[in-house]
Amino acid sequence: MIFSAIDRLIGYAEAHLALPARDKIYARNTLLMLLGAAGYERSGAEYAGEPVSELLADLISSAVGEGLVSEEEAERTADAVMGALMLPPSAVEAKFSELYERSPAAATEWLYDYSVKADYVKKQKLDANPRFTGKNGLIVTVNKAKPEFRDPKRAVSGNSVKGGYPKCSICRENEGYHARAKRTLRTVSMTFGDEKWFWQFSPYGYFRQHGIAVNERHIPMHVDAETFYRLMDFVDCFPHYFIGCNAPLPRIGGSVLAHDHFQGGGERLPLFHASVKIGLHYDGYTASAGVLDWFGTAIRVTGEDRAEVAALSEIIRKGWVSYRDEARGLIPEDSEGAHHAVSPTVVKTENGYEMHLILRSNITSEQYPDGVFHAHPEFHIIKKESIGLIEAQGLFILPGRLEQQLGEVKKALIAGMLPSELADFQLVYDEIAAKGRLRDDAEAEAMMREELASICERILQNTAVFATAEDTAKFLKELGFHA
Ligand SMILES: [Zn+2]
Repeated sequence: MIFSAIDRLIGYAEAHLALPARDKIYARNTLLMLLGAAGYERSGAEYAGEPVSELLADLISSAVGEGLVSEEEAERTADAVMGALMLPPSAVEAKFSELYERSPAAATEWLYDYSVKADYVKKQKLDANPRFTGKNGLIVTVNKAKPEFRDPKRAVSGNSVKGGYPKCSICRENEGYHARAKRTLRTVSMTFGDEKWFWQFSPYGYFRQHGIAVNERHIPMHVDAETFYRLMDFVDCFPHYFIGCNAPLPRIGGSVLAHDHFQGGGERLPLFHASVKIGLHYDGYTASAGVLDWFGTAIRVTGEDRAEVAALSEIIRKGWVSYRDEARGLIPEDSEGAHHAVSPTVVKTENGYEMHLILRSNITSEQYPDGVFHAHPEFHIIKKESIGLIEAQGLFILPGRLEQQLGEVKKALIAGMLPSELADFQLVYDEIAAKGRLRDDAEAEAMMREELASICERILQNTAVFATAEDTAKFLKELGFHA
């Protein structure tokens, strides 16, 4: 019964979305309009603590059942209904600013929680994603939450960029845009230097309070001297978050290269815990640089002085984007364009700013058409997509299909034979089987986790542009750093 579903959802909005009592009738009438329902009868049903996903599912299935909404429109209607029950962006921003004065963490905590309650952040689905930490410290998660595009109309509108509105999927004009099912998106403004930016959470985040900081202007991703200041501006505002920028090149960067943005959130990723293997200094600076004990090639610039951290980071960035060692396949630029880029990511600690610079190359070869410093082909069955900023920091997001496929491999391991339809997993099977026959599912699961963490470690080694810490230190010494 649709009126009962409406009444319960209105009650929910009063309890959790700050819907004022004064606006209750108006909100209900908005829902009737969105659902295409004429008339209303009080059902007597009340909100009784059900999760929002359940209330929304009840409403939408009633609306579909009564022929008011088509299956194709279901998802977008659900989004529109929740958007109508939420505070408008100005009120969200006012509340955020008020809390920020008390504590930045309280402000982000509230916005995240509000986004979960509005069903914008799909927390329930995210919590259902398998996730574990391997003995090597790498975090592995299987992303079952992110749905495939089912509604062809939405897929078309969501993917069109050329001449479209908004220009891309992260432009601020998405806030409340129904055609991309962004009625529940709320963003908050921030200023870095003299640039206007904004923050929004990711509906399908990969770690605690995962979000993006986005330039208000739709300009291409880039990393330059200013970027280091922008990143430090961000952690000055939100010292409990880390923030990083993908390498602005295809194959090794993010999926939205057309629009300047950073990624961050409330978790300390494995890279931040890596120890310094070779510490180096630079004359005239109190800030220092350290080659990290890490699987990829990563350098940490540490210091309390923003200008120093930015200056040393820029020396390293400039050095890397022009570094040439053809014998090792390190070619900064050729007829295809630039191949070298730095992916910076910063966190504030008791040592000041810790700016991590991950050196990347997107060059390809005949042997490695997907990238020389990309996951090599024997690992593509586990991970073929580009190794972006989050993975380069030690948090791997593996495709959802693996849950079922690896379940089959585990069964095969216990049975002692790999069926031919799982031949793609021969490497995984052989490496685990070599450690001895498995007795039960728990043992197979534990072995499988370590195998995945080990493969992720080898993938990161594939991305390393310098084979050893000593080689990385040699590169830094050529730039003027010394022990
Ligand atoms: Zn854009």
